[in-house]
Amino acid sequence: MNTEIVKIEINNDKVSSSALEEKELSVFSKEELAAIKQAGEIIKNGGLVAFPTETVYGLGGDALNPESSKKIYAAKGRPSDNPLIVHIADFEDIYKITSKVPDNAKKLANAFWPGPLTMILPKSDIVPRETTGGLDTVAVRFPSDFVAQEFIRAAGGFVAAPSANISGRPSPTEAKYVIQDMDGRIDMIIDGGENEIGLESTIVDLTIDPPQVLRPGFITNEMLGDVLNEKVETDRAIIEADSGIAPRAPGMKYRHYAPKGILVIVEGNREEVVSEINRRLEEDKANGFRTGVIASDETIGEYSADVSKSSGKAGDQFTAAHRLYSILRSFDDENAERIYSESFALDGFGAAIMNRLLKAAGHQIIKL
Ligand code: AMP
Ligand code: MG
Repeated sequence: MNTEIVKIEINNDKVSSSALEEKELSVFSKEELAAIKQAGEIIKNGGLVAFPTETVYGLGGDALNPESSKKIYAAKGRPSDNPLIVHIADFEDIYKITSKVPDNAKKLANAFWPGPLTMILPKSDIVPRETTGGLDTVAVRFPSDFVAQEFIRAAGGFVAAPSANISGRPSPTEAKYVIQDMDGRIDMIIDGGENEIGLESTIVDLTIDPPQVLRPGFITNEMLGDVLNEKVETDRAIIEADSGIAPRAPGMKYRHYAPKGILVIVEGNREEVVSEINRRLEEDKANGFRTGVIASDETIGEYSADVSKSSGKAGDQFTAAHRLYSILRSFDDENAERIYSESFALDGFGAAIMNRLLKAAGHQIIKL
């Protein structure tokens, strides 16, 4: 299949200008609007288009067409019991794909939509089970990215989209990674530049009481709890790797985000971590392995790995999240076989970073 690649980079200055909105001018050029319209037609005709969002790139198909969902699973090599998130671009559309919208969903939508929050709700009849991985519930998200919104509207309003990577690989945060994984497998890739956040959305299950976080993300448990006026906890199955409990988000049980090399997290105080990682690097090098390290700006100069990458200043969670997947992919590009990462604090957005890092490491963590 020939994959068409179109570039649509929004100038944020243009977006924030309210004068522009008043004049009802579009943030897109005529050519860009035409390309988005064409992308929408591809979806309406049962094809697949990868598109940017504020979290990661999505691999979109018509959420209401079972054949489209089957194509998404095939393109990703994803198990078909792993449900897709349905993306909307108008809050009212939530009523069409769900059978009940509880008050807490309205409160969360008010506070965090459009944005990086996915809500699990009971599905309506028009959503095929191919899209929900056989479940009676549907995951719904209203992304804030302007290209995503325009595209979803052009596509008819309901775009099913998992991350646009081959199943098991890190989610793509730039179009070049989508091209690496999806070129020749889908009809079009919309290149919207680097994603703002770089980690997948927070998933909150509102079909149970109290609501539960099934996947941590930029919207933290505390942020959700503040809006709902109750304590919101994370599904235990995803915190305890070996609990034997099945996670409520089926996708969380699969090995994920993983580089090809072996990744181990090392946790402890800074000096101990640096010396333990260096000791292991020497051993690995003696054994002929190419090595990699995820360090911080403060420590990157202290490592002797073949490939050292900084996740930003220590404590800068936003930068660490933003860089994580491209760093993991760079180890593959540079054939790193033994990789070590410093650990991240679990507060705030850190819970999401550690969740992805632990999965990438197959939960191998050394606590000093
Ligand atoms: P991805 O699209 O790669 O971000 O993955 C979507 C995630 O949402 C996976 O972990 C799914 O298991 C989860 N998910 C989607 N729909 C549901 C649902 N109805 N119930 C629980 N989890 C869901
Ligand atoms: Mg994914």
